[in-house]
Amino acid sequence: MQRDDRDAARDRILGMDAGITRRDFLDGVAIAVGGTVAGGLLPEFMATAPAGSAAPQDQPGYYPPALTGLRGNHVGSFEAAHALRDGDFWAHAGEIADTGETYDLVVVGAGISGLAAAHFYRAKADGARILILDNHDDFGGHAKRNEFALGGRLALMNGGTFSIDSPRPYSASADGLLRTLGIDPVALAAKCADPDFYPSLGLKRGVFFDKETFGADQLVVIDAAQSWAQRLAGSPLSNAAQRDIARIEEAPIDYLPGLTSEEKKSRLSRMSYRDYLLNVVKADPGVIAFYQARTHGEWGVGIDAVSALDVWAFGFPGFQGLDLKPGAAPHMGYTAAGYADGGSYTFHFPDGNASIARLLVRNLATESLPGDGAEDAVAAWLDYSRLDHPQAPVRIRLSSTVMRVRHIGDPTSADAVEVTYMREGELYSVRARSCVLACYNMMIPYLCPELPDQQKAALEYAVKVPLIYTSVALRNWSSFKSLGIAYVHAPGSYFSSLSLNQVVDIGGYHSPRSPDDPILVHMMRTPARPGLPERDQHRAGHRDILSTSFETYEREIRGQLGRILGSGGFDPQHDITAITVNRWPHGYAYEYNPLFDPDWPQGVAPHEIGRARFGRIAIANSDAGAAAYTDSAIDQAYRAVAELFGV
Ligand SMILES: Cc1cc2nc3c(=O)[nH]c(=O)nc-3n(C[C@H](O)[C@H](O)[C@H](O)COP(=O)(O)OP(=O)(O)OC[C@H]3O[C@@H](n4cnc5c(N)ncnc54)[C@H](O)[C@@H]3O)c2cc1C
Repeated sequence: MQRDDRDAARDRILGMDAGITRRDFLDGVAIAVGGTVAGGLLPEFMATAPAGSAAPQDQPGYYPPALTGLRGNHVGSFEAAHALRDGDFWAHAGEIADTGETYDLVVVGAGISGLAAAHFYRAKADGARILILDNHDDFGGHAKRNEFALGGRLALMNGGTFSIDSPRPYSASADGLLRTLGIDPVALAAKCADPDFYPSLGLKRGVFFDKETFGADQLVVIDAAQSWAQRLAGSPLSNAAQRDIARIEEAPIDYLPGLTSEEKKSRLSRMSYRDYLLNVVKADPGVIAFYQARTHGEWGVGIDAVSALDVWAFGFPGFQGLDLKPGAAPHMGYTAAGYADGGSYTFHFPDGNASIARLLVRNLATESLPGDGAEDAVAAWLDYSRLDHPQAPVRIRLSSTVMRVRHIGDPTSADAVEVTYMREGELYSVRARSCVLACYNMMIPYLCPELPDQQKAALEYAVKVPLIYTSVALRNWSSFKSLGIAYVHAPGSYFSSLSLNQVVDIGGYHSPRSPDDPILVHMMRTPARPGLPERDQHRAGHRDILSTSFETYEREIRGQLGRILGSGGFDPQHDITAITVNRWPHGYAYEYNPLFDPDWPQGVAPHEIGRARFGRIAIANSDAGAAAYTDSAIDQAYRAVAELFGV
């Protein structure tokens, strides 16, 4: 058989031609492929609004959470911003239509930070009129909802932000906002989450060893009751690697004898976990592939680019004999290891923190979401046509990329700003008394060329972390049941983890309990480039994500699920019913890395210089806190609004 024929035959076995719910894109044009869209909205509707009609979001039936295919930074969301970055945009720009609209505040970015900024502003200025602009077809930013109808039932998954969870306790302002929205994470976790459900069925965690990395395809189920030697006995790892993994995981050895806890932490902050394992623990090099991707979910890079101190703070093995004391140490930089107070409460809504975004939208008086508590909102349909209603005090305008924000007059004395945005290829302007930029830091220098050069350089420093979060709908999960797994770490594979959807029952929403029922599976990929400094890995990852087609992701998903679950009876041709790939080339806010970044004194780190208020423009977003967490997005909104009010 010729190579092309072989590839075609393999694609047929994987089910690449199966009629599932997905959208493919050719040259930016949406094309429906097979099946029907899970919600009430046809894909074509999103792409073609008739000339002269209301914008797509104003029309009945508009419901982006139900769209499948390539989501996250979807086609149509980033091209205008990249044109501004790459070229001589203004020299060729068309006319700007003045909408004649004036607001008290314009917010750029409808993520958690932008929505929270609108909330905090209205708390200080009752009745303020606010416009929130976002380049995506949905609000929430990273807090993205993926919605499916599986077997006639609503199925939800987080397309981005997974849960309320932070290495710090939530601040008074972030916690206060949650309470205002009716979210009590501790009470909700006790009432709605069922973390023991999969364990009660005997489902465990597994590790998938792929033949390209480890020499043979093998799924090893991790039984916590066994020693590490027993757990790895059937794996394709060498005897030396198995022995040293057992030592790393279990032995209480002090690998840095004679040093104080502070001295040890300082040293660990300057070496990667990879170097720690190889050079300090003196482990066999065969252990590296086993641990390499363990940091992908939290940092977006492998253990070559994360400090040993950071992974210690997240409970990684190999430090149990070092007697490290919690809390900050000199030369630690801005690492999570500095938080001595313990982490926050945790709670996962079925759509992740998209529920927080939806509750914020309800709180902003858009009349788009019925109900009055946190629980009833989860399964409720949100009426997008209310979001930009002319009578609403707060308007949320989607698919609108802000291209310029400038003071009308001298920034030190101007009493208004002009905000110009692009929507469906046309430029529009509005005016406002103030503006909060709750968008990505690195975009701001292009939006506001009038900023001081030092501030622009500081804003450009951080490189956001690229990630792919994929929601895959399966006809049933009997293969997971027969293999005895609910979560799989796949250190050498295209997607480094996969897991059954979390079990949460909240309001009218119920998670599937029978392995014969349809379910959503989460798969995560990090396009890391081991060996490069962290920010260079992220830059390469951006390019990787934006140049990878949906077809490639689908083929990898099908192939990987078939290889991991096949012996449990899974058939990729028949068992996959829908795929949503949420791509986040600009994902987590950059958190400084003590391996590559200077140990800036407090007050002069790039995010602190970059977020300074400039005339009537204040800067929010989690980037401004250099912390990739929801509480940071809220805290930065609170600070930015306080700055506008001169507090
Ligand atoms: C995959 C993923 C998983 C995460 N999981 C967690 C978690 O479990 N717990 C947690 O606490 N945190 C998590 N985070 C981090 C958390 O999601 C973020 O810190 C927080 O949601 C960021 O909110 P934000 O409003 O600051 O930024 P964003 O959510 O990025 O919102 C900013 C918005 O501004 C828009 N924008 C940018 N430029 C323009 C422009 N020129 N014009 C108009 N709009 C513009 C962006 O497109 C975006 O929609 C996760 C992040 C990612 C990517």
